[in-house]
Amino acid sequence: RLDLPPGPPSVDARTAASASRDATDLTLDIVIPVYNEEEMLDLLLGRLAQVFAPEVLARQGVASVRFILVDDGSRDATARLLAERIRGGLQARLIRLSRNFGHQGAVCAGLDHADADLVSVMDADLQDPPEVVWDMLAAWRQGADVAFGRRRRRQGNVLKRLGYWGFYRLVAFLSEINLPLDTGDFCLMDRGVVSALRQLPENLRFSRGLRAWVGFQQVAVPFDRPARAAGEPKYTWSKLYRLATDGIASMSTRPLQAAQLASFLFGVLTLLFLFLLVGFSRHLDVPRPFLFAYVLIATGNAVLAFCLYILGAYVGRTYLEVKGRPPYVVMERVEPRARQENPHV
Ligand code: UDP
Ligand code: MG
Repeated sequence: RLDLPPGPPSVDARTAASASRDATDLTLDIVIPVYNEEEMLDLLLGRLAQVFAPEVLARQGVASVRFILVDDGSRDATARLLAERIRGGLQARLIRLSRNFGHQGAVCAGLDHADADLVSVMDADLQDPPEVVWDMLAAWRQGADVAFGRRRRRQGNVLKRLGYWGFYRLVAFLSEINLPLDTGDFCLMDRGVVSALRQLPENLRFSRGLRAWVGFQQVAVPFDRPARAAGEPKYTWSKLYRLATDGIASMSTRPLQAAQLASFLFGVLTLLFLFLLVGFSRHLDVPRPFLFAYVLIATGNAVLAFCLYILGAYVGRTYLEVKGRPPYVVMERVEPRARQENPHV
């Protein structure tokens, strides 16, 4: 037998076994990032109590549900109010981040603290209607590993809607993987998928993109996205801009490839022009020193363009390596009961 050294770091979803699809004692964790949402809390917790009431859980075959509330460094009373509710018996964990790390960081923290059979992620402002989780559960029972919400209609600020519309299409166009359109972080995931996501080491996390990247059986669950139930949006324009650039950069190196192509073409054109210039210099009425200076500058430009091209190739690969995504994700292994010995040897 060969003693093989360990291969590249791989991700194996089997480290967290999935529950049986027809189980009636499922556990469910619901990750909710909250940032300055004090106006929302009563509405949110009231609605959650309704949608996840004991009799509904029993009907859905869910034994217990737990809310994982991630306080993303709120400066209002959000954290205090939530802690009070938990002391008062609310089945929830409150994870308080030390400052405002942003929605994506909060989602990541929530997933790291989840350990149920099924984990859902939803916004605190009821724009992700909690009852849709039951449609997602139905999709999971039929074999989906990830059921993600897809917005049929979206309400609110026209400019933002247009921005999101364009953003999802741009990221999907640039992305090297098949990224579903009009889907945010609202989803229900099997434990195996959460485990795979948690094994991805990259720090700048674009969660809806990573979720698509890990693969598995993914199903879209359409829903109408209502307007925010109370309070102001917590995504400022600068946060949206960061989400957009992070999203594009984390899912694609195509912008870099485009820059590379441009520098390569520019370099070739400059060289071509230089040869023409030198070849026809005798017929040109340009003083020698000027011609010489021009040739020098153009040569420099061509060299720079090619250097950029080469740098781009290495920077792109460095970036892909630094992200540390594994080369593959194992979903399942089906193996024979025992290794067959060859009877003829
Ligand atoms: N959020 C967060 N940290 C932030 C900004 C937002 O945890 O820095 C949470 C917020 O409390 C909400 C969710 O992320 O639960 C979505 O935020 P918002 O509703 O403002 O986004 P929009 O619906 O406008 O895209
Ligand atoms: Mg919202």
